[in-house]
Amino acid sequence: MDILVINCGSSSLKYQLINTETEEVMAKGICERVGVDGIFTYKNNDGVNMKKVPFDMPTHKEAAQHVIDTLTDPEIGVIKSLEEISAVGHRIVHGGDKFSEPVIINDEVLKEVDEVSELAPLHNPANIIGIRTCQELMPNTPQVGVFDTAFHQTMPPEAYMYALPYEYYEKYRVRRYGFHGTSHKFVSRRLAEVCGIPLETSKLIICHLGGGASVTAVYNGESIDTSMGLTPLEGLAMGTRSGDVDIGAVEFIAKKKGMDFPEIMNMLNKESGVLGLSGVSSDFRDLWNTRAEGNVRSGIALDMFCYRVLKYVGAYIAVMNGVDAIAFTAGIGENDEGVREEVIRNLSYMGMFLDGDANQARYGKEVCITTPESRIPAWVIPTDEELEIARETAELVG
Ligand code: AMP
Repeated sequence: MDILVINCGSSSLKYQLINTETEEVMAKGICERVGVDGIFTYKNNDGVNMKKVPFDMPTHKEAAQHVIDTLTDPEIGVIKSLEEISAVGHRIVHGGDKFSEPVIINDEVLKEVDEVSELAPLHNPANIIGIRTCQELMPNTPQVGVFDTAFHQTMPPEAYMYALPYEYYEKYRVRRYGFHGTSHKFVSRRLAEVCGIPLETSKLIICHLGGGASVTAVYNGESIDTSMGLTPLEGLAMGTRSGDVDIGAVEFIAKKKGMDFPEIMNMLNKESGVLGLSGVSSDFRDLWNTRAEGNVRSGIALDMFCYRVLKYVGAYIAVMNGVDAIAFTAGIGENDEGVREEVIRNLSYMGMFLDGDANQARYGKEVCITTPESRIPAWVIPTDEELEIARETAELVG
């Protein structure tokens, strides 16, 4: 089956056309600066036809139309007609507690996704635009929603509740949902496979460390706890997000600076994390470079990032009463040997020892980064959310 995977952001539209039998990416690219001016990137599977060109995209509709036109272009396209696309799989960030599985999108589903938008105002509205656009342009093709929160719907109440008055949960569904579920699911399956551990009787910890970052405890194949909460703000210190912070400190700052809630949320989401701590950058390459030049704050930011990852890993080892394997994934997890080293260094007590050479791995390399003598292995497993979305979409419509 040829599945078109769409990941729609507020001013972008990422796409991949994937053949789910061979799992080959037939073509992929991104429409950027939608609504501003428009930059279109396209690459097909022969690797020859790659282009990055300006293209006027006032709305997502022109962007999606151009994707379809290019995919079916006689010269650089990879399919003859739209009919060859069996289904479109859409990444949807927040599914609340309504969606624990992928769903075929109809009016009822769209209404529910819209209702959940309150919990993800930066993401869900853009996802809905992507869905509506594809429905218009491809009215006969099934549209499937795959939710970032779905994988975490197996969390037990003690993990997903906040210790707040119960009525907020009952009335407004205020609870922890978790994110990056598609990635945590994909990587946990692959980790069990490469380690030769049966998923149904496994204790795995997945560290998805990218611009947004979260750690998940996967017990017998199911997520039983994860570091993000109602929104992607909770948990680890991230590129620009604060992660866990005492609400008392937030109130204190708000009073001192005379900030209102939108300003506070902007500060916590966009000006905090390793960027806020270092004052240098949210990019870890810049942090390592400036630390090497003697920047103390970059050092604190890096140390704190690693410390929080370690803290969550330790907590999840405790809640699962052990761990069989750990995986690192996403931009930092796949490329930053320094972060991986820092985390693994403190896990030697349970027989996890870093293999320094293997740990040099970067750029999409799947590799075991612990020594053969290690009792518990750690792996770098490149994530592939698009492939997971394509697989789940094909399974549902197939
Ligand atoms: P993601 O959100 O998964 O795309 O990850 C993006 C982040 O990965 C960037 O902000 C960088 O901090 C980090 N990253 C990417 N490449 C490298 C690298 N070679 N070394 C360290 N960090 C990297």
